Amino acid sequence: MPSSSSTKTRSNKKTVTKKTAAKKTVKKRAVSKKKPTKKTTKKATKATAVVEKRPIDPTTLKRNPLGHLLIEKLLREAGFRGGVSSSKELLDEYSTDESIFSIRPQVVIIPRCKADVEIIVQVITRETTRFESLSITPRAAGTGLSGGSLTDSIVIDMKDLRDMGPITFKNKDYSTFTCEPGLMWRDMEKKLKRHKLYLPPYTSSKDICTIGGAIANNSAGPDSLRYGHCADWVESMDVVLRDGNTYTVKPLTYKQFKSLIKKNHEHARIAREIFELIEKNEKEIKKNEPETKKNTAGYSLWDVIPEGVAKFKKGQGVFDLGRVISGSQGTVGIITSLTMRVIPIQTDTTLLAIPIFDLTEAAETIVKTLKYDPINIEIFDDLTFDLALRNPSFFKSRLHGLTYYKVMLAMYSTYHVRYRGKTPAFMVLVTLNDNSLKADVRDVVKKISSRNVRARIVTNPDEAEMFWQIRRASYTLFIRAITSGL
Ligand SMILES: Cc1cc2nc3c(=O)[nH]c(=O)nc-3n(C[C@H](O)[C@H](O)[C@H](O)COP(=O)(O)OP(=O)(O)OC[C@H]3O[C@@H](n4cnc5c(N)ncnc54)[C@H](O)[C@@H]3O)c2cc1C
Repeated sequence: MPSSSSTKTRSNKKTVTKKTAAKKTVKKRAVSKKKPTKKTTKKATKATAVVEKRPIDPTTLKRNPLGHLLIEKLLREAGFRGGVSSSKELLDEYSTDESIFSIRPQVVIIPRCKADVEIIVQVITRETTRFESLSITPRAAGTGLSGGSLTDSIVIDMKDLRDMGPITFKNKDYSTFTCEPGLMWRDMEKKLKRHKLYLPPYTSSKDICTIGGAIANNSAGPDSLRYGHCADWVESMDVVLRDGNTYTVKPLTYKQFKSLIKKNHEHARIAREIFELIEKNEKEIKKNEPETKKNTAGYSLWDVIPEGVAKFKKGQGVFDLGRVISGSQGTVGIITSLTMRVIPIQTDTTLLAIPIFDLTEAAETIVKTLKYDPINIEIFDDLTFDLALRNPSFFKSRLHGLTYYKVMLAMYSTYHVRYRGKTPAFMVLVTLNDNSLKADVRDVVKKISSRNVRARIVTNPDEAEMFWQIRRASYTLFIRAITSGL
């Protein structure tokens, strides 16, 4: 897949598995008229490694500005209908995301429809044979923290692919919906809320990120403690692979898998190679699976055949290539459609607020809460609380009308009255599910509390909203504080 980002910007993804997958080669390479290329020797991008059979030496990668200059003409000739620009202002805008990196692209492409995405990939795959430094990197809302949407070549902004289809009610426990990747999470959330549904792995960036970016990052949020990452909620996805065709990727039984790998196309090739890779290295892969609740580094090979190869070959379990594509940050293909599972919003929950004034008590308190299988455990520190207290206006754009005043009242009364003007070193927020709790919640509160730690049930919804608002604002408050001296 010709998609790029320098190795430096994807440091969290630098694993053996990633490199292996990134060096897959094109089966059929379209031959194009070769033109002499000007030589420059800048750093190579990972994407270019994808199209070459020989190992790429990054220092000798041929840079040829002509490829980027010709791209609009080539796309139009192929029937592309979306936007293409190299305006200085736009390139400046796409040079950064929420990471610490800054890389200037050469061209920004904005597809108008799924067919446009296929055209882009077909043209770039073909043209990399003569302009080897051409590569494409999808971008959604650009809120990623690892620089995944940055490139020195071509950015594809997916913002215009943002439709959401109707919700399909499967049963009382879950429903599904299909959408395009550029759909903002907040817009999806609003629509789901009307049906009392939600997508559990919502991130703290849910007000500013897209569903496609979150899946491509395999993001996780507060409720992931119980409900897992974004990849766990994908029913199926449409992906444009490096041959420029769209494939539907979903979990396959052994029979379906056997029938797929007989085919002669890109989806079949990737499925075959991933299967071989897992079969050969199964023990090693399982051994290296991180034992953490949250992990988005590397390709999740350990999740592709969860039952194990032997059992899968006997017809048990599934082969799910989507597990590799979710979290691959656009390096395997470009997602153009997603079908997601959603569940009813839980109303039978209790929020506990646990102020920790002495940091040495934090770890033990959190370990105690884990026994009760919470939906989430989140924390924010004293700096965050102080920044929130000093900047009430920050919340004005996030909370509307009376809610703003109620939440602010809750914030100052909690601080001045409840905590007597002292900011806790850590605020621990724990959401328990009353139904699955095998004990009375008041007993749980007693067991979590100790001489210096007082857990408390939050009964006021404005106070609960206040705690979550501060938690979600922590990153932005901090960035604002260091950039504008809030
Ligand atoms: C304030 C804040 C809070 C955050 N909180 C969390 C959190 O709680 N949990 C968490 O996991 N992360 C969090 N993040 C980072 C998080 O990863 C992103 O917010 C989100 O996942 C990325 O969404 P995006 O739409 O901005 O995607 P982008 O940043 O634009 O893209 C993310 C990656 O996906 C790729 N991509 C985009 N679209 C496609 C596509 N259609 N097909 C294939 N690849 C594609 C891009 O190339 C890039 O590699 C936070 C970030 C911020 C700024």
